[in-house]
Amino acid sequence: MTRSRLLPVTRETHHVQIDLVYATDRNLTGKPIYKTQHCLLLEPAEAALRKAVTIAQSFGATLKIFDAYRPPQAQEVLWNFLPDPTFIADLGRGSNHSRGTAVDLTLVDSDGIEFDMGTGFDAMVPESGHFHAGLPAHVQRNRTLLLGVMHGAGFAHIPSEWWHYELPGSRELALIDNEESGPLRLM
Ligand SMILES: [Zn+2]
Repeated sequence: MTRSRLLPVTRETHHVQIDLVYATDRNLTGKPIYKTQHCLLLEPAEAALRKAVTIAQSFGATLKIFDAYRPPQAQEVLWNFLPDPTFIADLGRGSNHSRGTAVDLTLVDSDGIEFDMGTGFDAMVPESGHFHAGLPAHVQRNRTLLLGVMHGAGFAHIPSEWWHYELPGSRELALIDNEESGPLRLM
């Protein structure tokens, strides 16, 4: 792959909502990890996200982003907090968030209300898995809707987290160091 850049994703340019929970204390560590709400994706992922926004708009919804590019140093903070490879990519393997090709997100309606996905973002429980048996039908429907939007735009899902999507083949790409991420500094 040719050299790609991290591109900013904003509410204005991409018609999405952005709530980077790692810039708040509403994440699994209970403390802010990022200093700013700066949302970045690698070029091909940014293009796919634009496509996803268009698909969601076709049924009156939009996307709300919880995390996108994540500096490897932030991944280290998460891994040290919860060293469980089911939910956190270990440091040797690296997270596709640190490759700029993964995005955590949900659907919101025209009033900005999040679709009911049964579990919250970053809920490290079996119920967060796609197609987990026993979830209410409307939850399965909402998750399947998000799945359709993201697959239609070219993203792949992972079984354990309904909110996580990434470009196929991400593993081949290099991790992007925090130096290149500009304003996305860690606390
Ligand atoms: Zn993710």
